Amino acid sequence: MTESEKLDQVGRWLMESGSTAVLTGAGMATESGIPDFRSREGFWSQMDPRSVATVDAMHHHYDTFHAFYAARIRALEKVRPHRGHEILASWEQRGRVRAVATQNVDGLHQEAGSREVYELHGSIRSVRCSRCKREADQEAFLNGQPCLFCGRALRPEIVLFGETLPEAAWEAAFQAMEGADLVVVIGTRLEVYPVNELPHLTSGKKVLINAEPTEADDRFDVVIRGKAGEVLQWLDQRMDA
Ligand code: NAD
Repeated sequence: MTESEKLDQVGRWLMESGSTAVLTGAGMATESGIPDFRSREGFWSQMDPRSVATVDAMHHHYDTFHAFYAARIRALEKVRPHRGHEILASWEQRGRVRAVATQNVDGLHQEAGSREVYELHGSIRSVRCSRCKREADQEAFLNGQPCLFCGRALRPEIVLFGETLPEAAWEAAFQAMEGADLVVVIGTRLEVYPVNELPHLTSGKKVLINAEPTEADDRFDVVIRGKAGEVLQWLDQRMDA
């Protein structure tokens, strides 16, 4: 199939599907200016994730942990959703998409207007105490202040390596994927377990939109190589046609 035929095919599937579930990863946000993790310019090309995004780092190297996440939170202040996020939100409003499950912690799907969003790796926009789990102000975390109630260190509400996924988000994503006629995966290398198994719960069609080949390509009915925002715009035009 040519790239154009693939887009036509996926456009038709989107129109015909009674229930489409979307799964996004870091590649969904690079066009908004947030680096992904594993590409050449990604966060992890400059540092080892095990040195910062872990429970161990939070407990034993809090300064490094804090500096990394404070910088990521500050960087988000200037970031806005791109056209691709808006298109997914409009598809939900038009009944074309049932839900978006995301590995991203940036909150951009909600900012673009998506309502049914399952944040599988939490959200960097919320902060809580690392011990008593009470909510705290983002500003307090940025200033390096401890929890007001128990005095322990604050942390963003993200899932660190070594932690389990939020149960409600996982359950909702599981059901959306299992009940989907069509699953569209966007901007992820599908290397992080267990999220990488979610798309394969469907008995329907599976589409992967990613800028580079992944080890999971063979498990999809159609793989479209390209930028998330651009591919979603092409698909949106085909659905309007
Ligand atoms: P990853 O870095 O492993 O893979 C991202 C993939 O997206 C790569 O294959 C890359 O080629 C592709 N890509 C980059 N730009 C793209 C674009 N414009 N269009 C299409 N594809 C593009 O990321 P992942 O698989 O999502 O890894 C998961 C981990 O990364 C998660 O734990 C997640 O929490 C974290 N993460 C989140 C953010 C965010 O919230 N925006 C940013 C970085 C990392």
